[in-house]
Amino acid sequence: MSTERLTLALDGGKTAILDWDMVNKTLYISPNGKKMLGYSDSELPTSIETWKELAHPEDVKKNFRSFLQHRHKHLKTFEHSYRIRHRHGHWICIFGRAQIIYDAEGHAVRMIGTQTDITKEKELQFKYSHYAQIIEQIHDSVISLDKQGNITSWNKGSEMLFGYSADEMIGRHFSLLCLEEKCSLQTKSIAALEQYGEYKTEIQLKKRSGEPLFVELVLSPLKDNEGKRIGIVSYAHDITDRKEAEERLVEQKRILFYQAHHDALTGLPNRVLFFDRLEQSIRKTKRLGSGFALFFIDLDRFKHINDSLGHSIGDRVLRITAKRIGSMLRQEDTLARLSGDEFTVIMEDLHHPADASYLAEKILAVLQKPMYIDEYTLYISGSIGISLYPEDAADAEDLLKYADTAMYRAKANGRNMFQFYAAAMTAYAIERMEMKTSLKEAIEKEEFVLYYQPQVDALTGHTIGLEALVRWQHPSRGLILPDQFIPLAEETGLIVDIDRWVMKTAMQQVSLWHKEGLIPDMLALNLSIKQLEGHHFLQEIEHCLNAFEFQPHWLELEIPEGQVMKDHKETIAKLQKVHDMGIGISIDDFGTGYSSLSLLKRLPINLLKIDRSFIKDIPFDEEDMAIVKAIIALAGSLKLEIIAEGVETEEQKAFLVENGCTKIQGFYYSKPLSQEKMHHFLQKQF
Ligand code: C2E
Ligand code: CA
Ligand code: CA
Repeated sequence: MSTERLTLALDGGKTAILDWDMVNKTLYISPNGKKMLGYSDSELPTSIETWKELAHPEDVKKNFRSFLQHRHKHLKTFEHSYRIRHRHGHWICIFGRAQIIYDAEGHAVRMIGTQTDITKEKELQFKYSHYAQIIEQIHDSVISLDKQGNITSWNKGSEMLFGYSADEMIGRHFSLLCLEEKCSLQTKSIAALEQYGEYKTEIQLKKRSGEPLFVELVLSPLKDNEGKRIGIVSYAHDITDRKEAEERLVEQKRILFYQAHHDALTGLPNRVLFFDRLEQSIRKTKRLGSGFALFFIDLDRFKHINDSLGHSIGDRVLRITAKRIGSMLRQEDTLARLSGDEFTVIMEDLHHPADASYLAEKILAVLQKPMYIDEYTLYISGSIGISLYPEDAADAEDLLKYADTAMYRAKANGRNMFQFYAAAMTAYAIERMEMKTSLKEAIEKEEFVLYYQPQVDALTGHTIGLEALVRWQHPSRGLILPDQFIPLAEETGLIVDIDRWVMKTAMQQVSLWHKEGLIPDMLALNLSIKQLEGHHFLQEIEHCLNAFEFQPHWLELEIPEGQVMKDHKETIAKLQKVHDMGIGISIDDFGTGYSSLSLLKRLPINLLKIDRSFIKDIPFDEEDMAIVKAIIALAGSLKLEIIAEGVETEEQKAFLVENGCTKIQGFYYSKPLSQEKMHHFLQKQF
């Protein structure tokens, strides 16, 4: 009864009782002991020999030796393990723990104890050690980390990959392997682990040597028996080779793409890429407005060079040509070689067709420079045809066709020139070009003269000011009025030089008149906003004031409404400085721009000048008259003075005076007068 209880108590049958009586040579095995081996209680003979026969011979030998040693030393506790064959042929692993009992003379007489089936545990142990070996031997890096990212295990593969030994790394933080100081891996991966249970990425880590290492990294959670996350398992596989192969492939593709889209001789975009860019420019222009120009450039008599000097010289001419044209272009423009000696340029973001003609001129000029190739000095020229988008054509094919047509016209007209597809454009461009060149010369040669137009107080008839108006005394074309060259001068920036000259000349002249006692009160100068924006404007004005002993309050600067209404902080600040010097500021051509009242209030101005387009049709145009009245009222409420220009008739003057504008400028009193005539005019008055 007591054995049964004991047996039941022992581990649900996995542990048996063994009692070996060495004196009587019997062996007791509890029934479950036999059952472990697949036998019933009645089956196995109760002798130690039976047991020995079933056990693994190696283990028997080993255990017997151990038993003898125990007996010799009179040790009581005997632990042992062995394999024993199951009835079905497989091995069972047993762990035994027994007491050896000795008689009075010290002879071992009995051994009693437990025998436990540990086959499962052995298998597990074996499996784990197997895994451990696999992990240890695998050529990839397998690392375990605690929740904070500290390394808790480090296999051989990690050592091979990163160059650190396990001793060096265990306990260190994982970020030691990161390339950057601040490793985002941690935060990113933890979040991903929480969300998806795994984090997979391709990343560059750092070897011990500092060398970067491209790996495929898989992080997965390390869990305890209850499934609680206690750390992270990191698996890293070296993909440097694969990455390199990928990069080589990408590079090869890039080279192939490049070759398919570029001309081998010059490295320029070829026809395919050119059309691509052209379509792109059309799309961009549709989206953003403005426009672009397409140049078709063909070298003059290139065939002759090729035929007489050979292809290798011809090739070099083409390469130099490509370089020279390219050097004239901006980043955003495209230069392509279509074939042979045909080049195209897409000139982006064209605001004025004149800009295309300037570029064409520059290209023609650079092509004409001599080329020194070996012992030859070659003189080349080109012919250029220009088509404009959107003016000339709506699609790429037509644009190219038209530029080509224009190019042939340039050839037919004598080569070494450009032609627009729209013939009128060419004439216009050429005139402007000539004008521009001669305008430049005019500045150098000071071909300008000043006219002065009086401003009159209509109530007294007294001159209260003079407006200086510039004219260009052209050597062959005679006196040219500002409307014909000021816009060009503004566009090219030459206006700054012109206005500087006007300022100097007018102030000097008016100062002389003052000294003569001819006091016109006020000198009004037209000021381009470009001049105001110049860095030295304030110094220049100060210099003139000092040099000519000119009082600041004698001076008034007229800025066209359309130019000043761009609300630029710097411009306003500069105007304020001018104003602070005591110089008057007026808004010219008032009513033609789109002034906002709030800006008007902020500007440091004294006077509004009603544009002459509103005066012209008084007294016939009611709308204009209403506008004039409104402007006068506006000036009143802003506490600004008001003057009207372009007043030609008695009615116009009367209307203005009646409505409160008594300052009048216009042919009614006087046309703009040359310096001598103005001298007389003033002399008569004073
Ligand atoms: P603006 O500043 O509006 O100058 C007045 C223009 O009106 C002058 O033309 C003048 O001759 C003209 N005018 C004056 N009274 C009458 C009139 O009763 N009837 C008509 N029909 N016209 C009259 P101008 O001299 O041809 O100047 C044209 C424009 O050129 C000026 O318009 C001004 O914007 C610009 N300008 C002239 N000189 C200069 C200068 O030195 N610098 C700058 N930046 N612009 C100037
Ligand atoms: Ca003016
Ligand atoms: Ca005006």
